[in-house]
Amino acid sequence: MKCTDLAARIGKLTTPHGSFETPSFIPVIHPVKQQISPSFLKSLGFECIITNAYIASKFYGEKAEKQGIHQIVDFDGPIMTDSGGYQVLEYGKVNVTPSIMAQFELDIGSDIPVPLDKPTGYGLPYNTAKSYVDETISNIDETIDIIRKNRTDKNNDILSSKGEIWTGTIQGAEHFDLVRYSASLLDKKGFSFFAIGSPVELMEAYEFSTLARLIEATKLSVPNKPIHLFGAGHPLTIPLAVALGCDTFDSASYILYAKANRYMSSSGTLRLEDLSYLPCCCPVCSDHSVKELIDEIPQTRIINLAKHNLYVLKQEMSAVKQSIYDGRLWEYVLQKARSHPKLMDAIHTIKNFEYIQQNTPVFKQKAIYLFEPIDQFRPELKNYRNMLINNYKSPNNNILLLYPDQGIRPFYSSSVLRKLSSTFTDASICLYNPFFGLIPVEISDIYPTSHNIFTKHFDEYDPKSYTEFLKLLNTFLKNNTFESIHIIANRFIKKLLPVIELPKETEVIIEDFVGYKLD
Ligand SMILES: [Zn+2]
Repeated sequence: MKCTDLAARIGKLTTPHGSFETPSFIPVIHPVKQQISPSFLKSLGFECIITNAYIASKFYGEKAEKQGIHQIVDFDGPIMTDSGGYQVLEYGKVNVTPSIMAQFELDIGSDIPVPLDKPTGYGLPYNTAKSYVDETISNIDETIDIIRKNRTDKNNDILSSKGEIWTGTIQGAEHFDLVRYSASLLDKKGFSFFAIGSPVELMEAYEFSTLARLIEATKLSVPNKPIHLFGAGHPLTIPLAVALGCDTFDSASYILYAKANRYMSSSGTLRLEDLSYLPCCCPVCSDHSVKELIDEIPQTRIINLAKHNLYVLKQEMSAVKQSIYDGRLWEYVLQKARSHPKLMDAIHTIKNFEYIQQNTPVFKQKAIYLFEPIDQFRPELKNYRNMLINNYKSPNNNILLLYPDQGIRPFYSSSVLRKLSSTFTDASICLYNPFFGLIPVEISDIYPTSHNIFTKHFDEYDPKSYTEFLKLLNTFLKNNTFESIHIIANRFIKKLLPVIELPKETEVIIEDFVGYKLD
């Protein structure tokens, strides 16, 4: 793993046909009717593709087994194969058994095969969903028997015959206890790669909060294993899913959207007919006006729109990976959340996910940016406040001086601190900041207390919306006792004074920051 941010990681997946970097978008190609060639996908930097083994078996049969799927679809890189689960979701059943499908996927040389599963879909009653989960598990048991029979190295206990990576498909959808049950059971069966099944309807309905909870349930069950998200091909879904720890995605959205004249952009999809301009610089958009695209014969227009959509997906993957490198994934996901209110709702769901903060680096090279109350929940600040509550004791119990954080960095070597120290010779000096809570000066050089830039207009919001500030301050005052508390109060803390739990026996002096002068 190269680097991490939130629950996202940049890593590498190694298959018999080569390695590829994750997070990765894996475009779906039809094994028979390819409208976009795999070589075009490769030229754009998509290193792995997915195709449907069920359709390949119906159309090519033995020819696919003889030639192998790489020759059939003309792609020499890693190929993932779906097994008919999608057809089950669409048509109810397929006329093939899990064992036959597993043997076929092995015979055609799939790098990342998927067992024949029974997708839960979305909106099923609990007991029906449970029966689908059980059917998938029983299919998987049949698949495992086939994998074992095909093993070349009989002593190897890894769930693989020739180096291929089998996918443990997790069903259960919005029934999160079924998701946890399904994921834990597959983990015990030896899978090293997992896929979250059937969230397509959730994503189509923009139910990003439920999707986030589905990913959380999976990640808590199999915390470190690579996770694939089926059917995620929307520019708004990908950054959220990456931030929550999904590593690979597949979708046919680029071609399906193209058929419906839907033009992808980094902030969502637009209808071609509604556009006056093409807000993109890809070769398709550079060569065409909106009218020229609309006037094309449907087949040409679909290909051109599909290519444009692929450029947008590629750009999205690069942008999200660069954000991981920069330690700015939180900022990036928040930018995206401005594109749709339901995505912002999902941010309010994930702000309470503890696993995100556990995986966020404890030190980052770049300053974090703080704009508005939601940013108090970013993982670096939650980690900081936890540290302050659990590991910090004030070195001095005489006077606590609370002074407003003016954004001076580093504060410990500032002239303001020198003046404060000479005025309050016997005091514990703490800056107060709506995003951090408190910053005791003796730790004002550690990350992230001196590695941040915050807007000075934070008090445009109701101070009570900085709930973590208030919690931290009240806990700090319980954990540390002082003979007197001296507050140099700005507008923000003045409004909070009625709800700050100041200790009753302690002398409290409040001075207005406006007009306050240091010698
Ligand atoms: Zn374009």
